[in-house]
Amino acid sequence: MKRRDFVKSVGAGSLAVGAAIAGAPAVHANTKIKWKMVTTWPKNFPGLGTGANNLARLITEMSGGRIEVKVYGAKELVGALEIFDAVSRGTAEMGHGAAYYWKGKTEAAQFFAAVPFGLTAQEMNGWLYHGGGMELWSEIYDGFGLIPTAAGNTGVQMGGWFNKEINTVKDLEGLKMRIPGLGGEVLKRAGGTPVLLPGGEIFPSLQSGAIDATEWVGPYNDMAFGLYKAAKYYYYPGWHEPGTTLECFVNKKAYEALPKDLQAIVLTASKAANLDMLADFTARNNAALDTLVNQHGVQLRNFPDKVLKRLKGLSDEVVAEVAGRDPMSKKVYDSFKKFRDQAIAWHNVSERAYLNGRSV
Ligand code: CA
Repeated sequence: MKRRDFVKSVGAGSLAVGAAIAGAPAVHANTKIKWKMVTTWPKNFPGLGTGANNLARLITEMSGGRIEVKVYGAKELVGALEIFDAVSRGTAEMGHGAAYYWKGKTEAAQFFAAVPFGLTAQEMNGWLYHGGGMELWSEIYDGFGLIPTAAGNTGVQMGGWFNKEINTVKDLEGLKMRIPGLGGEVLKRAGGTPVLLPGGEIFPSLQSGAIDATEWVGPYNDMAFGLYKAAKYYYYPGWHEPGTTLECFVNKKAYEALPKDLQAIVLTASKAANLDMLADFTARNNAALDTLVNQHGVQLRNFPDKVLKRLKGLSDEVVAEVAGRDPMSKKVYDSFKKFRDQAIAWHNVSERAYLNGRSV
């Protein structure tokens, strides 16, 4: 970036600059940049909100305080689902959310969060970082003046909480279940009624019987909401969210105004936050599942193969329809599908074979 452009953007943006600009590291040390990060999560929300905090802290620490990132919870600066527009127009420099929230702007965005029977966390990272996914994601967000990064992953979620057993596909008929997005569309085609509810309303709705069932995330987050007090059976696996990627996006102009080393710090801190959130969920889910089963008497149930097979068939239909809506979605779907087919073949002889072998 040319020096005069940098100076210009300093004048226009929210960069607070010391005695000197660009140049030697000693000069950088005097440059203090203040960024705002808006998020779709309540402030300090376990796993997701704390993941956003972690990313902000990493950027500040790695830059030796040259960028200070202040995190805003949902509604503190803008509403949970307004963060995409807020960062796009430069109200804040960064956002932290999940790409499937922006399907109203671009259908293809959903592939970068989670699709039913899609990629696991490990596979998502493979596709994004080394399988062409990141390039496609960047191409899409570029149209909104944003640079996306993967900044967290929940790992495989749970299938949800039910008060009756699901033994056949028929048991899904008429079932009123809180399940958002493409998974909800799949449930609808299986005869159920998907309901959209924000996190805070799930427990009372399940307890009062306003809904019959719900999914949320996994043992760690579900236990925090007390869902085990309102439902008997805890089903697995989370076919609808097999490895949900959380995202960070950065205002492109703000990013381009940074010196190269700070740009690298923003991207590298995102990678570290992506890894750390998955590790956080893995460690805490392990412990929470143990508590749910052994202290709270939760009954674990596996969805029968026949039910999963039906849901998978419906999911493939729903996801292929997304691909048919516009050329960009088709391009992303083709890349995603090719990667998933190869990942299935490879992970059948690696991850799956090993996990099965470990349990022999
Ligand atoms: Ca979920």
